[in-house]
Amino acid sequence: MPLISCPECEREVSDKASTCPHCGGPLAASKDRQLEELQPRRVIKLVGIIVLLAVVLVLCWERIRGPQRELEEAREQEEKINERMMQEMD
Ligand SMILES: [Zn+2]
Repeated sequence: MPLISCPECEREVSDKASTCPHCGGPLAASKDRQLEELQPRRVIKLVGIIVLLAVVLVLCWERIRGPQRELEEAREQEEKINERMMQEMD
């Protein structure tokens, strides 16, 4: 069992102990704690990247769909005008 020195009392303790048996201070667990603190940040980063990608995708989609929708609306208006003209001609 490798031994490390306790940061609180500087006595040698097992690196597998989460707390010092001499003073009860926190030990190697601080490493796990750092990992636990890092993971939420990574998750937040990942979520941020996903949200950013989604926003970019939506923007691209709107840019592709936008002109098409305008064309469709213009075509519909043209048809309405044509219909009205045909009715007036009758
Ligand atoms: Zn200690």
